[in-house]
Amino acid sequence: MNLILFGPPGAGKGTQSSFLVESEKMFQLSTGDLLRAELKSGSDLSKQLKEIMDAGKLVSDDIINNLIEKKISDPSVKNNIIFDGFPRNLEQAKSLDDMLDKYNQKISAIINLKVDYSVLVKRISGRVSCSICKKPFNEFFDPPVEPNNCSNNKCDSRELIKRSDDNESTVTNRLKTYDDQTLPILDYYRKKGIVKDVDAMKAINEVTGEIKSIISNL
Ligand SMILES: [Zn+2]
Repeated sequence: MNLILFGPPGAGKGTQSSFLVESEKMFQLSTGDLLRAELKSGSDLSKQLKEIMDAGKLVSDDIINNLIEKKISDPSVKNNIIFDGFPRNLEQAKSLDDMLDKYNQKISAIINLKVDYSVLVKRISGRVSCSICKKPFNEFFDPPVEPNNCSNNKCDSRELIKRSDDNESTVTNRLKTYDDQTLPILDYYRKKGIVKDVDAMKAINEVTGEIKSIISNL
């Protein structure tokens, strides 16, 4: 069984993937992880990758596909993969299907995590964390008891910090890219009848429960 966890940035793809890794013993495939692992490997490709990334260029689809094909054909993980954040566009979706076909596999289901964009913007742009103990808060959903004050008694920090890319305009831009490039993939898979919609506005454990019941019925 191969799955794609699908949804906009902030929908909880990474969180739900790691639960499946634990409970279903699946392999979580994210292109970021693949690239980092390849860079460390010292292979010929890793030298080429380093040059591309040092120059600030985007890694081509060919290289990404090459790394993914290695995993799809790897007996220790094949047919037991959760794709997290891949494919990102229709071209990638089609090449993924071709690659899987080559190794007699397919995507069993697309788990589509549905979330209101207004909530996503607040989830991401509201993220702050304590400058000392790193405790995470959300200015909208989980604010500190006193403003800008870490409520953990063992920590007397008076400073909560925000990542520079967690602001409303960056989030809105990422959602627009998602709408333009990634969302069309969903229609492609809907025509194959393998999209399973999940209401990801629910509590994390409820979402996990829904995903598990979908998997058990595949
Ligand atoms: Zn703190």
